[in-house]
Amino acid sequence: MTAQVIDGKALAEELRQGFKARVDALAACGHKPGLVVILVGEDPASQVYVRNKVNGCLAIGMHSEKIVYDVAVDPETVLEKIAELNADPAIHGILVQLPLPGHFNEEAVLEAISPEKDVDGFHAENVGALAQGSPRFIPCTPYGVMKMFEKGKVDLAGKEAVVIGRSNIVGKPMALLLINAGATVTVCHSKTKDLKFHTSRADIVVAAVGKPRFVTADMVKPGAVVIDVGINRLPDGKLCGDVDFAGCLAVAGQITPVPGGVGPMTITMLLANTIEAAERKAAAAAGAGK
Ligand code: NAD
Repeated sequence: MTAQVIDGKALAEELRQGFKARVDALAACGHKPGLVVILVGEDPASQVYVRNKVNGCLAIGMHSEKIVYDVAVDPETVLEKIAELNADPAIHGILVQLPLPGHFNEEAVLEAISPEKDVDGFHAENVGALAQGSPRFIPCTPYGVMKMFEKGKVDLAGKEAVVIGRSNIVGKPMALLLINAGATVTVCHSKTKDLKFHTSRADIVVAAVGKPRFVTADMVKPGAVVIDVGINRLPDGKLCGDVDFAGCLAVAGQITPVPGGVGPMTITMLLANTIEAAERKAAAAAGAGK
C-alpha cells in the first residue's frame, strides 16, 4: 500500500486564491484586513517565519507590517505598543512571534492582546472558547490540520486519534479540535510510557514532537492518517518532519509531507483568521450603521 499524500502547499494556494475576493470586498468598504507581527530579537528561524507571514498577507492584498525590537527591549515597551495596536481600527490581527526572550512573561504578553485581535488564538479567553466548542479564533497550525482532514475527506467522528505532543500552540488545541469533531482522542507526551501501544491502534496520528523521524512505520496502523507537524533542521541543512515519511508512506492510508505539508497551511490559516477578524469588524460597523 502506498499512502495518499495530502499536499499542503497546493491546498494552501487554493485557499489563498479564495481569500483574495474576501480581502477585496473588505477593502472596498474601508475594512482592508491588517495584521501586525511583533518580533523581539534576531532568531533566524523567527525572522523567516515573520517574513513569510507578512509577505503572505501582502500577496493577497492585505495590509501587514512587522515591528522588530532589540532582544534586550523592556517588556513594558512591547506592552505599550500592543495597547496602541489594540486601539488602532486599521489593525485586525496582532501576533507576537514566540518564543520571547527569557526576561519576558510570555503569558502576560499574550493576555495583553485584545481577544478580538488575537489571530493566533493563544489568549486565555480564546483558549477557553475553543475548549467549550465555540472558538473565536482557532490556533493556526491545528486549524490548518483540520483543513487537511477536510481536503483528504477524513471523517473524524468515532475515530481513534492520537496526538503526540501537548504544547499550548499545537498539541492541546489539536486535541480539542479532534474532540469537538467527534474523535476519541489520546494525547501522548514525553511522560507517556508506551507510545507505540497508543499509536499502533490509532486511525489518526498527529505528530507534534520536534524530533526528526520520530514516528516510524512500525508505530503506525495500516491505513491510518498520519499528519506531520514537526519542522526539524538536519545537520545537512535540510528540513524534515517528526515522521519517517519514506517508511510510513508504505503503511499509512494518507500522510502529509515535510516540507510542503502542514507548514504552508499554518500561515494560510493566519490569513484566514485575520480576514475573519476584519469581516466581524465590518459586520459590527454595518450593524451600528457606521
Ligand atoms: P514543544 O517542544 O512545545 O512540544 C513538544 C511536545 O513533544 C511536548 O509536549 C513533549 O511532551 C512531547 N514529547 C517530547 N518528547 C517526546 C517523546 N519521547 N514521546 C512523546 N512525546 C514527546 O513543541 P511544539 O511547539 O508543539 O512543536 C512541535 C513541532 O512542531 C516542532 O518541530 C515545531 O517546529 C513544529 N511546529 C510546526 C509548525 C508548522 O507550522 N508546521 C507550527 C508549530 C510547531
